[in-house]
Amino acid sequence: MGFRWLLQAWVPRRAARLCRAVVFDMGGVLLPSPYARARDWEVWNRVPPGTVQRALICGGDDRPWMKYVRGELTAAEFVQAFAQQCFEITNSPVPVDSFLSDLTSKEMSEQLPVMTEAIRCIRAEGLKTAVLSNNFYLHSGASFLPLDRKQFDVIIESCREGICKPDPRIYMLCLERLGVQPNESIFLDDIGQNLKAAAQLGMSTLKVDDPEVAVKELENFLGFPLRGAVPFTRSVRPTMEIPQVPLQKYLENVLGSHTTGSLLVRQFSHGQSNPTYYVEYGDHRLVLRKKPPGKLLPSAHAVEREYSIIGTPFYLMEYCAGHVYKDPSLPGLEPSQRRAIYTAMNQVLAQIHSVDLKAAGLEDYGKHGNYVQRQVQTWTKQYRATETHTIPAMERLIEWLPLHLPQAHQVTLVHGDFRLDNLIFHPERPQVLAVLDWELSTLGDPISDVAYSCMAHYLPSSFSLLKGLGNCDLTHLGIPTAEEYFRTYCGHMGIPPIEDWNFYMAFSFFRVAAILQGVYKRSLTGQASSATAESGGKQAESMADLAWDFATKEGFRVFKAMPAMKPSGRPYSTWAWQGPFPRRSYVTVPHSSSAPAHLILSPEGLSDRAQDLYRRLRRFMDAHIYPAEQALRDHQVSQTRWTPHPLVEELKVKAKSEGLWNLFLPLETDPEVRYGAGLTNLEYAHLCELMGMSLHAPEIFNCSAPDTGNMEVLLRYGTEEQKERWLQPLLDGEIRSCFAMTEPQVASSDATNIESSIVEEGGFYILNGHKWWISGALDPRCRLCVFMGKTNPGAPRHKQQSMLLVPMDTPGVTVTRPLSVYGLDDPPAGHGEILFENVRVPKENMLLGPGQGFEIAQGRLGPGRIHHCMRLIGFAERALALMKERVKSRVAFGKPLAEQGTILADIATSRAEIEQARLLVLKAALLMDTVGNKAAALDIAMIKLVAPAMALRVTDRAIQAFGAAGLSSDYPLAQFFAWARALRLADGPDEVHRMTVAKLELQGP
Ligand SMILES: Cc1cc2nc3c(=O)[nH]c(=O)nc-3n(C[C@H](O)[C@H](O)[C@H](O)COP(=O)(O)OP(=O)(O)OC[C@H]3O[C@@H](n4cnc5c(N)ncnc54)[C@H](O)[C@@H]3O)c2cc1C
Repeated sequence: MGFRWLLQAWVPRRAARLCRAVVFDMGGVLLPSPYARARDWEVWNRVPPGTVQRALICGGDDRPWMKYVRGELTAAEFVQAFAQQCFEITNSPVPVDSFLSDLTSKEMSEQLPVMTEAIRCIRAEGLKTAVLSNNFYLHSGASFLPLDRKQFDVIIESCREGICKPDPRIYMLCLERLGVQPNESIFLDDIGQNLKAAAQLGMSTLKVDDPEVAVKELENFLGFPLRGAVPFTRSVRPTMEIPQVPLQKYLENVLGSHTTGSLLVRQFSHGQSNPTYYVEYGDHRLVLRKKPPGKLLPSAHAVEREYSIIGTPFYLMEYCAGHVYKDPSLPGLEPSQRRAIYTAMNQVLAQIHSVDLKAAGLEDYGKHGNYVQRQVQTWTKQYRATETHTIPAMERLIEWLPLHLPQAHQVTLVHGDFRLDNLIFHPERPQVLAVLDWELSTLGDPISDVAYSCMAHYLPSSFSLLKGLGNCDLTHLGIPTAEEYFRTYCGHMGIPPIEDWNFYMAFSFFRVAAILQGVYKRSLTGQASSATAESGGKQAESMADLAWDFATKEGFRVFKAMPAMKPSGRPYSTWAWQGPFPRRSYVTVPHSSSAPAHLILSPEGLSDRAQDLYRRLRRFMDAHIYPAEQALRDHQVSQTRWTPHPLVEELKVKAKSEGLWNLFLPLETDPEVRYGAGLTNLEYAHLCELMGMSLHAPEIFNCSAPDTGNMEVLLRYGTEEQKERWLQPLLDGEIRSCFAMTEPQVASSDATNIESSIVEEGGFYILNGHKWWISGALDPRCRLCVFMGKTNPGAPRHKQQSMLLVPMDTPGVTVTRPLSVYGLDDPPAGHGEILFENVRVPKENMLLGPGQGFEIAQGRLGPGRIHHCMRLIGFAERALALMKERVKSRVAFGKPLAEQGTILADIATSRAEIEQARLLVLKAALLMDTVGNKAAALDIAMIKLVAPAMALRVTDRAIQAFGAAGLSSDYPLAQFFAWARALRLADGPDEVHRMTVAKLELQGP
């Protein structure tokens, strides 16, 4: 009578379809009824029947029970107050403590299976679920909630909220957290009063007396079954129904007439293009996969392995219970478990690709050879057949893919759609139980499967159709990177890694783009098998863009590895052409047969050996140099700065032991590769750039100036004795050296001005002179000075100078002070001012011979000086990298610095300038390798002019973007800046290089 509002449970189906959330009471709905339990308890404890129920229900808002469920009483306080209340009802003591324990006993804490299954079915349909319980705190202080929380989107406990049913506020709170309106929900409770309050708010309600009956009523209300829950399935979508009578007949036929029972059909929620169903009949659990209804593409959805019984072709498989991981980030698993899942996936793929085709009778399963080519054609056709509008990236790919087909790899069984969510894993172990979705399987190129299975790595996690790992921290998650995954695969298969991986990625995304376009087209005609088809189809464009990104990367790889200048017969000239259009042509006639005769634009194009060195060097920089930078910078401003930091010597030993040592010595100076790594100047340019990223790196690899220049001089011009005494310890990194040319009293940019004198006396030379800016002179390890002075002031200008090897501890050599660059004194090497006063050195210390000093200086300044330029490219790259990182993370005036126009312009200009300078460095290095230092003079002078100024501008922009921090010693930028500025002088003033360039330019035709 008073329950007329109950009729609201029987709303018409149209209204039920609006239902978005089901809200459950706990005790008496999800858990056994506390009232029934109270009745039993009263019998066992000889308490007058109805006492507990009366005490629970009667007495207004301030009765103990209400206070308890609002969290106002502790369990102990409640027991006391409730005992008093029961005593007042019965006039005799009631052991209520034991009632509370009974109420929370194990038996009372088990969720009713019928409700568990109903909740699974409700959630499978995409509806939300909530618990709204008048709940209480236990003696332990925890609340009583023995439910699996994962079943609910929202859990509301009265004791936590301080309000309880039937207070309308608690219902509103629940609805608000669910994000639904009252009329979009249904509430199940066993107490009429609570239901009445919900109904007054506009919620549909259902009274639960018998949970079984209640579930049937709820089923009726919602319009879908609440039993037969199978993981990852939902009720069959209205447009996807399959005729059950013919299917049942067919099953009886196939499975045998003894098979009886009711037929249960549910639909798997994923499976975008071919609808997939769970079919249970008798003891048989099967999976049915069928073609989508409607007009289909020529050879897609090749499921014709069964007759048409249900309107469209289908096939049946055995149902395999296990776990399908739909989210590639594997939420809820430990990093080690995630890694194990990916390893298992990788292993299974390798097993598929290792199937012995002959033994398995699969030799005719597909055509042999040209798999990728045929696939590109097929998917191009598919795409064209469903094209709705022009997708520019697809057009480019259709042109690009056939022109960049990979070299033929093995022919194996290929799956064609191999991804994590097509695998069924063991519920407890990282073991693949089954591989699904074989419709695209054939014989083909196995790498296409590997690339396809890595697509998730490049997709954002927000991508709705195929969740991605693009913005996940894979190391943190324990998931292998695509590169690691591929390497593991190669390990399983015993094959070397391939170079054109990006082609396969481009191809994989192209295929997905074509598939999604098909889905989209079908969604337009209403035949898509999934509600998300339409949005997914629109994503064809973003997939095509992603594919094109990979195509571009692959293009760059090919480009970088490609000979930019062929050693053809074009005449070498860098002079402006005297024709109507100014143009330049180059030839790179090899100077020595071992030198590379073409420009290698990036490390990827280097020889295997140089690439290996490059990779190892990069790893060393990452692992040891960058992490040590701050400590080394701090040391440079400490009291002990003139003593080398012990870390430097430690790292030198490590670098040496790893073979990353003396990489600078060019092949032309050391053709037998006795002393150095035997790299060409061009090869070294790439490695030297990397070392330039840190001011501390070159010394660690024994590749720092001025030692490098001095070692080269000794190697080229030194006698065997000189080599033994000085070159060997320098090569071993045991000592350091300096080069003394510049003098304060003369304009030293013109070396002919040098005035220091070298006078022969008996078997000795006596030296007198005043030098300054002598780099390295303050280092306690500096034992050798290569001294330049005049032996014969009366000889022709370029024959007056000589070079002598002067041990630093020779009497008369006094380092009078360190000089500083912008206040930085570059310890422990320093730049010293030195007095040479009657310094006596044996005649054998003369290099090459008297009057040969200028010639040696020219030789010394070839490769050695372009090393600075190579390193300056590294400086600039590092400065730009630091700048990019910084501007992305700082916000000013409402937006990240990275979005401010001037910052963008600075980044763009810096990138362009670095690239320009790098090309010129590489070209100069190549010419040194191929036509020799003399013929490369123009390019050497040009890069010496360009590189320091470029690095200075790029670093200056980076400092500006950093703000004040850029000027501090917390970052390498201030030192980069100072050093780049110094190099506009130290390597010869800009003007002198400009003079050289202009003179040579004017000499030309
Ligand atoms: C950090 C640092 C480290 C150094 N390390 C060493 C070292 O280890 N050993 C060593 O011997 N020297 C070293 N030097 C010195 C360096 O080589 C000289 O400073 C350089 O050669 C210029 O000589 P200078 O200073 O005497 O300038 P000057 O010759 O007096 O020239 C001054 C200016 O005159 C102008 N000028 C010169 N020639 C021309 C021209 N043809 N046309 C137009 N303008 C012109 C330029 O603007 C030039 O900067 C170092 C310098 C620095 C800053």
